[in-house]
Amino acid sequence: MLPLAIPNEEVVAIEHVILDFNGTLAVDGKLISGVVPRLEALSSLVTVHVITADTNASARSELASLPCTLKIIGRDKQDQAKLEYARSLGLGRVLAVGNGRNDGLLLKNAALGICLIQQEGAAVASMLAADIVCVDIKDALDLLLQPHRIVATMRN
Ligand SMILES: [Mg+2]
Repeated sequence: MLPLAIPNEEVVAIEHVILDFNGTLAVDGKLISGVVPRLEALSSLVTVHVITADTNASARSELASLPCTLKIIGRDKQDQAKLEYARSLGLGRVLAVGNGRNDGLLLKNAALGICLIQQEGAAVASMLAADIVCVDIKDALDLLLQPHRIVATMRN
């Protein structure tokens, strides 16, 4: 469990982290350097989930040795599919990370949503739906491993 204690707000107990794959954990279908050790560390705190349209058909092989669950979604209503997956876990216990248009509902409805820019860019609607925007996945995962950074960003 990852407690987020933002001043003047209820403490949020994050139990699940849901990540998009392409544009988030990977570029051109390949895991981004530095992701593996961070996901391994994160998996000792929370359950790690990857949900993806798998544009490059590489998610299963790239993630094979990592401590995470993988959900590959279909062609249609991908934003709804991602949201429903998070809802099944309990939205109030989910922190979500993504970059695409199909991550927008997930980022908006999760307890905390982080939108990434990286090499693929971010869908503007998804960026506006998120709570935090990071340039790089390594920075986003380091926020989770050093949650005082999130507190500093989110306090008011
Ligand atoms: Mg993406």
